Amino acid sequence: MTTPVLRFSGPVLPDGDVRDLYVVDGRVTYEHQSGADTAAEGWIVPGLVDAHNHLGLEDGGAVDDAETERQAVADRDNGVLLLRDCGSPADTRWVHDRDDLPRLIRAGRHIARTRRYLRDYGVEVEPEALVDTVVQEAAAGDGWIKLVGDWISREAGDLTPSFPDDAVSAAIGTAHALGARVTAHCFGSTSLSPLLDAGIDCIEHGTGLQEQQIEQMVANGVALVPTVLQTDKFPEYVAAAREKFPAYASTMEALHRSRRDVLMAAYDAGVDLYVGSDGGGSTRHGCLHEEILAMAAMGLPADYVLGAASWRARAWLGWNPGLAEGDPADFVVYPANPVEDLTVLAQPSYVVLRGRTRRDW
Ligand SMILES: [Zn+2]
Repeated sequence: MTTPVLRFSGPVLPDGDVRDLYVVDGRVTYEHQSGADTAAEGWIVPGLVDAHNHLGLEDGGAVDDAETERQAVADRDNGVLLLRDCGSPADTRWVHDRDDLPRLIRAGRHIARTRRYLRDYGVEVEPEALVDTVVQEAAAGDGWIKLVGDWISREAGDLTPSFPDDAVSAAIGTAHALGARVTAHCFGSTSLSPLLDAGIDCIEHGTGLQEQQIEQMVANGVALVPTVLQTDKFPEYVAAAREKFPAYASTMEALHRSRRDVLMAAYDAGVDLYVGSDGGGSTRHGCLHEEILAMAAMGLPADYVLGAASWRARAWLGWNPGLAEGDPADFVVYPANPVEDLTVLAQPSYVVLRGRTRRDW
């Protein structure tokens, strides 16, 4: 039995040209198909991308496959059809075999320094084991490695880089030789220059970025995923740490105070920004629209943020950026123009993944 041909009508972003878009055998065509079922009219947006997500992770570590599936479905129903996983202790490779779940690019497990990250999240190693761990996680992932660039040091009582500069440089060189791109969790400033000097491909959070580091990112095409919903929580971390680690608390407080200026300086300088909900662990799944709104509330233009969560992120991760003739039918339909009102992103009227829709799931 062949699946029925579906027709969607409306402005197709990013161009906004009004078109009749048909879905045939999981792909997009603009050639008229007689006898097509009209599925929906509205604003048609290439599938959203969550550029910083964690499938299979909750507070306390890995979750079972049923919970991972629930997370992935929540993201899909939010219009997120491509996920870049930024580290998970669960083996989520099976998600690749599921046509009804978002496309997934995995980074293997977080690579952290011994006892210097959230417990049961990642692999924890000393510097001499870093390169071997990178080799192992590159083999386990889908072309990305996730380093924890900085974290609190209980000895220093403050945020400090996880690894010495030469270890970071060897790790990134090894990943690149294996064809993997590298990203790192960085809240503070000092971890950033060694990572950027070693040729890192992306920075997560990036609240400590300074002017010269921003310039370096622009020059080398290094992306930034600011995770504004996550950095909103710094005051909670400050409150929890104040008594035992006052220096750390004041560092985090200062980073929280300057985070909007840092983000806007990165944008103004021309750093490529992408949108990451940081779902999993301490946040929820299915909330990319909230991160989009939070980034816009920082002062970024709506059309820029939507592109960062859709067509530009898709291109960055090696997918079809838009919805050209013959492209895979991964898109979301909204009842109004999301560029004019980003709040419509909370309620897609239709989600189409690999040409299939809710009624097929
Ligand atoms: Zn994260």
